[in-house]
Amino acid sequence: MRPLGTAAVLIVSLASVACVEGFINEVEPVTLPEVSERARALHESALVADLHADSLLFRRDLTKRVSRGHVDVPRLREGGVGLQVLGVVTRVYAGTNLDRNEASGFDLVTLLGCVSLRRACFGGAFERVEEQAGLLAKNVARDGDLLWIRTKADLATLRERRAANANVVGVSLGIEGAHALEGDPANLEQAFALGVRMIGLAHFFDNAYAGSAHGVEKGGLSRVGRRTLARMEQLGITVDLAHSSPTAIDETLATVSKPVVVSHGGVKGTCDNLRTLSDDHVRAIAAGGGVIGIGYWEAAICGTKPEHWARAVRHVADLVGDEHVGLGSDYDGATTVGFDTSQLAALTQALLDAGFEENAIRRILGGNVLRVLAQTLP
Ligand SMILES: [Zn+2]
Repeated sequence: MRPLGTAAVLIVSLASVACVEGFINEVEPVTLPEVSERARALHESALVADLHADSLLFRRDLTKRVSRGHVDVPRLREGGVGLQVLGVVTRVYAGTNLDRNEASGFDLVTLLGCVSLRRACFGGAFERVEEQAGLLAKNVARDGDLLWIRTKADLATLRERRAANANVVGVSLGIEGAHALEGDPANLEQAFALGVRMIGLAHFFDNAYAGSAHGVEKGGLSRVGRRTLARMEQLGITVDLAHSSPTAIDETLATVSKPVVVSHGGVKGTCDNLRTLSDDHVRAIAAGGGVIGIGYWEAAICGTKPEHWARAVRHVADLVGDEHVGLGSDYDGATTVGFDTSQLAALTQALLDAGFEENAIRRILGGNVLRVLAQTLP
């Protein structure tokens, strides 16, 4: 009876994590613009790149299409996505909000780890990085047309292979919150070895590296934060300012020598809250050659329709040019969105409707992200 018992526990656990995911990564469908032939052709001719999704957290086989959540590889292909950056989330405390979070409480990633019988149930934050990197490796091994992007050469291979075969999708790995490194410089080296190529120093709470936009102190960079940034740039790990406090953003921009990204967010110009960037920060990020990924959820764009997204893109483009804005979905990041990744052609239509010309649209859809990665990757 024992194998049956184990199987029953496994089935219940997997059902639970699916249930949790169905509840927190919702699609509340919005009316999408009708995608014209022109928009469809333009979308297919672009290399669409999304800077941030948290899909690894939910332990799905991403090579299989499912009806919950926002991202899997079949849906990426249907949505014409050529590059998806996947973030690793290691701690989210119950009651997390945009305004003020302590770095303590009941950790929901632990809960998710326990219901799916993963190491994350007991392991530390860095073990969660190792585990999610392992999950990405498993997905890449399952699908010969998934290409893990770790170097500039991989980016070139992605362009070449995708030109011949639209099924080829690049994936890359990032971390949300340097607390995942647990203060140990060796963990940064190990993260790089595991394939991590993007790190946002802060997530929803202040940590030993940097202040969070949603923390208690909302301070700047610590000494270890500065050392970590310097080593990230040496290794070829892209600096991500999403969730950083305004002071941490200022101090990071004064420190770095390469372009940075904001992997998922919005702008105060169209949606003013603690999660979004001031015009001054948009200008400073653009001055360094960086790119701002605009999300599709309410707190990022004050709406969930493609036209709300295009309005934020237009704000950045009018302020600093269309070379500094891109896609930053935050899919599967406990977000409620109006469309999943299979429906991204609607964004191209929204950009045409907002009056952008075709080359600008190709840059916004992915060209800008690829330009920055080509400058930051090893
Ligand atoms: Zn996030």
